[in-house]
Amino acid sequence: MGDDSLNDAKEKMIKQHLIPRGIKNERVLAAFKKVPREEFVPPEIEAEAYQDRPLPIGEGQTISQPYIVAEMIQALEPTPGDKILEIGTGSGYAAAVLAEIVETVYGVERHQSLVDEAQTRLTRLNYDNVKLEVGDGTIGWAENAPYDGILVSAAAPEIPNSLVEQLVKGGYLVIPIGTKNIQQLYQIKKIEDDKITKKELGRVRFVPLLGEKGW
Ligand code: SAH
Repeated sequence: MGDDSLNDAKEKMIKQHLIPRGIKNERVLAAFKKVPREEFVPPEIEAEAYQDRPLPIGEGQTISQPYIVAEMIQALEPTPGDKILEIGTGSGYAAAVLAEIVETVYGVERHQSLVDEAQTRLTRLNYDNVKLEVGDGTIGWAENAPYDGILVSAAAPEIPNSLVEQLVKGGYLVIPIGTKNIQQLYQIKKIEDDKITKKELGRVRFVPLLGEKGW
């Protein structure tokens, strides 16, 4: 597939799947226009990169459906000076979209091979404001805390406390919570150290968050 047809497919994804379903944040839309999703999927399925569905990225994991990535990032209400933590970086696609908007993105991923691949592509695409670590993201990444927003790209059984602790007051944690099969996507706002508010964004299906505070 040539660059032109991939670009057309990208435009179509934004016009057919993102805008009509409520993605209106201009920063988010501009970021989706820039990031080449085909670079984040295995070469043999490059032509499918802009379909609105999850795709395999190795280690039994998936790159999430573009609309859901857009909804989650929009729910973080990201602004240019922000420092964002993403748990479950996988291919690095969501991290790259965020990196177009905010100052720094910290990503934690439990599979070394996925981190190595994500790092290679992020470097090749000049996303030098993304820092990755191999580890268990259910305990966050305390070293760089607090974060202006935290995105969890895998399904958790409950809200991991450490993530709320590592969030600034007024910051959002966007996370799918539920069973291994089906979850509710939440936008959680930290009001005070011991006070949060929750908003339901809809039903989703993510791969499980495995680890100390996960499954
Ligand atoms: N945001 C990714 C989607 C990855 S799917 C993208 O844009 O491609 C979810 C990822 O979460 C998987 O790669 C999985 O390995 C990872 N994961 C699951 N549990 C984790 C944990 N406790 N810490 C870090 N990563 C985890």
